[in-house]
Amino acid sequence: MAYATTNPYTGEVLATFPDATDNEVRQAIDDAHAAFLDWRDTPFATRTAVMTKAAQILRAEADDFARLLTLEMGKLFAEAKAEVELSAAIFDYYAEHAESLLAPEKLPVSDPRSGDAVLVHQPLGVLLAIEPWNFPYYQIARIIAPQLSAGNTVLLKHASNVPQSAAIFQTLMKRAGLPDGAFRNLYPTRGQVEMILNDPRVCGAALTGSEGAGSVIASQAGKALKKTTMELGGADAFVVLEDADLEKTAKWAVFGRHWNAGQVCVSSKRVIVVDAVYDRFLELYTAGVAALKAGDPMDPETTLAPLSSQGAAKEIRENIAKAVAHGATATEVGPRVPETGAFVQPTILTGMTGDNPARLWEFFGPVSMIFRARDEADAIRIANDTPYGLGGSVFTKDTARGVEVAKKIHTGMVFVNHPTMVKADLPFGGVGRSGYGRELIGLGIKEFVNHKLIDVVDIDAPF
Ligand code: NAP
Repeated sequence: MAYATTNPYTGEVLATFPDATDNEVRQAIDDAHAAFLDWRDTPFATRTAVMTKAAQILRAEADDFARLLTLEMGKLFAEAKAEVELSAAIFDYYAEHAESLLAPEKLPVSDPRSGDAVLVHQPLGVLLAIEPWNFPYYQIARIIAPQLSAGNTVLLKHASNVPQSAAIFQTLMKRAGLPDGAFRNLYPTRGQVEMILNDPRVCGAALTGSEGAGSVIASQAGKALKKTTMELGGADAFVVLEDADLEKTAKWAVFGRHWNAGQVCVSSKRVIVVDAVYDRFLELYTAGVAALKAGDPMDPETTLAPLSSQGAAKEIRENIAKAVAHGATATEVGPRVPETGAFVQPTILTGMTGDNPARLWEFFGPVSMIFRARDEADAIRIANDTPYGLGGSVFTKDTARGVEVAKKIHTGMVFVNHPTMVKADLPFGGVGRSGYGRELIGLGIKEFVNHKLIDVVDIDAPF
């Protein structure tokens, strides 16, 4: 049975869930399509009320929602609460802005024979959302808030290790007043995912996850001529220039690499420091990592949570060993992490040469790759030496210089003087192997709508 809750701190299997039957999947598609036929024509005020109510419930019951996150994937309780608030903020954002973001757009035509041309943005149908476990609620909120607000309906296939987080969101939306069928959580098999994609009533798929999953789903959807958005892996560069405030920068780097136990697509996975300040920065950074306290994620004193599973921890240890076999130096930092729980000892990798294949990998845990760059130009070169293109950061006291460097980093998002940030009112997405399409704000809500041209033409206009 693939879908199960296993507490990553204790290793205890708490609940298992059977795979969906084919009949359940077919019924869910029927229901989602039937719901779409009504929901697409509901006034924005109705959709807004559902979004607002969902946000209210999340905030009113934040502790309960957060506890389940910590239980299922092991994140710090404080981070779980922040995720609940972020999810609520996303619902609020679309409650406030969906109607104006989707307002008809009068086109600025120059040829008078082009008529009175307007673009209207209409929902397309049932969307399949495939989501990862690292932010179980946020990942759902960032797809369903815009898509339901646009008038689409959504079927969810969440990661197999967060089945209860997925289920509770379906209940949340029902309690918020969403019509039955408009958002349905399923525990499908791989074959059933393909079956959903091939159903003509399903308009596309939004996937957040690994490159491997992205490639499979994009191929299956492509075969069925369905649109997809892909939010995939990342190995964000964190560039430190010689004029950065080193104390503050080192603190942000430790945070950027270790929040959510380092399991974030936009973690600051590659810290690139110019030679002039490299040694001092490494000293500060190492001290910051050494101060992390691994332990029970429910304990407010804990600052480093376990990873999501023992399997994930094992894979990271193996990849550290491979990096070392290719010439890197691995320095384990801080007090020993607990022996029980899916912990990995925080590790700093230095001496990563241009021929070490590990420099191109995504370490999804508390492993920092630190690169020494000759100067700004070399730092930009190293930042772009990656198949990924998700986020990134530049630290400098000269913000105009930071913006110029940001323009030269080939990613979807770059922050000056902050690790890559996730906010309800900022877009999210990348280029290259990090995928395509954008989530959140107006870009996200317009990914699965028909940008329809309606043109009123003077019948006497010359041909
Ligand atoms: P994953 O293994 O790709 O899983 C993601 C989702 O895809 C899960 O629901 C998984 O289901 C499903 N899946 C995987 N293979 C599938 C297939 N062949 N057919 C149908 N569904 C399939 O990724 P992960 O290890 O959970 O998450 C970590 C990755 O996600 C990292 O690379 C991270 O950077 C990336 N990520 C990206 C973003 C972003 O916004 N760009 C955000 C968060 C995470 P099962 O659990 O049942 O396998």
